[in-house]
Amino acid sequence: MSWVRQLARPEIVALTAFEPASWEAGVTRLNANELPWRASEDESLAGLNRYPDPLARALTARLAEVYRVAADSLLVCRGSDEAIDLLVRAFCRAGEDSVLICPPTYGLYRLAAGIQGAKVVSVPLIADQGFSLDSQAVLERCTGEVKLVFLCCPNNPTGNLLSESAILQLADTFAHRAIVVVDEAYIEFSQRESLAAHIGRYPQLAVLRTLSKAHGLAGARLGTLIADPEVIRLLRKIIAPYAIPQLIVEAVTTLLSPLHLRTLQRRIAQVRAERTRLREALAELANVTEVFLSETNFLLARFKDPAAALSRAGDARIRVRDVRTYPGLSDALRISVGTPGENDRLLEAWT
Ligand SMILES: *Cc1c(COP(=O)(O)O)cnc(C)c1O
Repeated sequence: MSWVRQLARPEIVALTAFEPASWEAGVTRLNANELPWRASEDESLAGLNRYPDPLARALTARLAEVYRVAADSLLVCRGSDEAIDLLVRAFCRAGEDSVLICPPTYGLYRLAAGIQGAKVVSVPLIADQGFSLDSQAVLERCTGEVKLVFLCCPNNPTGNLLSESAILQLADTFAHRAIVVVDEAYIEFSQRESLAAHIGRYPQLAVLRTLSKAHGLAGARLGTLIADPEVIRLLRKIIAPYAIPQLIVEAVTTLLSPLHLRTLQRRIAQVRAERTRLREALAELANVTEVFLSETNFLLARFKDPAAALSRAGDARIRVRDVRTYPGLSDALRISVGTPGENDRLLEAWT
């Protein structure tokens, strides 16, 4: 039996996937109980009276080019949030298996585990070493019941990268035992290359990418899981049928053009420059005690009086993220890098 089938929940391995109506171009579709007429003002390419391609092949192929991976190692999901949920549901038996997380980190890993009834093993990042990965502790705590290790790189809400060699070493050590899921939601803002290129050599590595951050397409709700093709085939069994709406497929397949990719590079450069400026200005403020280095489009800062900072931002009709409930961040706020004008207004409110 393959390692994927051994690791996954047996009920999921045993499932027969729902067979959607076949989706070929140029045939008369009398197989899906669709209405044969378009709604009167429907100007979509395929017609919204038709179900979308269940495999979202056009979009999958385009994203495979954008992320430079093979199309069969890629699953397009409704945000990476759905990919996290699918992974937990496919690999963790309720009440028995665990996910390992490294807080302070993205809250959805714990939530997805909670929804599935999976346990959570928590191995904190090392706060006084720039929130670096505690590989030794991860190794020690990764017992047989841990099926997924979630690593967020760059990490939300701390903004730092985790050591690439440490991640790959963990993937190597956990071979056939657990999947190391690297969430690269912010990787475009960093100087780091995606680990997706390593999936051939480390099949137990899985990478999450999203269009929600650097690509500026959060409203499209599109995230991508890049993993061993057998993991992808397994998750296809449990993703909702026709998950990606036709309007999104059409809009985003067109949007991911060479022009978009050039604009993306310019936007990333703008965010980085503005991130540096905002960081230096925040560090000068009397209420700010520390601003962390960031490889993302946000900054994490510690305040003498975070409540006052929140209320003054609120008076200026600006929202920043209150992260004081995260372990070790009881005096911290997370600030997304906005336009220069927006950042100026925030600085003004805090001066
Ligand atoms: C924003 C974010 C995502 C993106 O989620 P989507 O569902 O793709 O919008 C994923 N992971 C982290 C850590 C994030 O901060």
